[in-house]
Amino acid sequence: MKEDRGDQGENEMNSNGHSIRADLKAYLNYLKSIGMTELPFPLKQRDTHYETGHPISSQRIHESPLPYPSSTPPLEYERLQEIRKELGNCQRCKLSQTRRTIVFGEGNEQAQLMIIGEGPGFDEDVQGRPFVGKAGQLLTRILQSIHLQREMVYITNIIKCRPPQNRNPQPDEIEACYPFLRKQIEAIRPKVICALGTFAAQTLLRTDAKITSLRGKVYLFSNIRVFPTYHPAYLLRNPDKKREVWEDMKQIARALADDEG
Ligand code: SF4
Repeated sequence: MKEDRGDQGENEMNSNGHSIRADLKAYLNYLKSIGMTELPFPLKQRDTHYETGHPISSQRIHESPLPYPSSTPPLEYERLQEIRKELGNCQRCKLSQTRRTIVFGEGNEQAQLMIIGEGPGFDEDVQGRPFVGKAGQLLTRILQSIHLQREMVYITNIIKCRPPQNRNPQPDEIEACYPFLRKQIEAIRPKVICALGTFAAQTLLRTDAKITSLRGKVYLFSNIRVFPTYHPAYLLRNPDKKREVWEDMKQIARALADDEG
């Protein structure tokens, strides 16, 4: 993809004094990183979103610690191990009858960013790891677009077992599994949560609203900032929504770089 300066000056600043060109370049890099080869809008179109946007500072985001380097596991690790032990060979809902593997979650136990999706799919059920299929690969690229490696975040789902034929999780299943998600969040205490898709957002925010109306705004869950956005599996079917996810990821990057909270 080639950048188009149009009739805008190279150093034009938006209302916040930031370079529009720098913002546009970051967005083009994001599109490239998630595999898009065409622009989702005409080249001459003025992008009003960037007029109020802030540039992403990758420096602060890089302060998210990588998995612990020493031989002493952190307390968060110990606590997650206890929660996993408590979950055991869980039979608390009917998904236990059809699942192959409980997909508890994985990643950096001291992560500043926690990613919460809907539930395991086929690949996850086989491997016992969250977000390892095509949607997971897209999630990895989306994270990289804001300078985060997968190992720097903690990834889990609202339900830990795959629903048959990947159907939507049912309310009784979500309620049965929710206490464990809550304990995982309490153990990690991330700075920011990204809720992927309708079910994750509705569960955390205790609302019936759809993801289309929830995304683009920030919410609080036990004083942790929550940013809902589209699920990567939805993005694979609706690539035109990648632009909105980019806006959400920029908000997340700003929240991670923020000293407060
Ligand atoms: S989805 Fe959660 S509550 Fe249901 S069986 Fe699996 S681990 Fe247990």
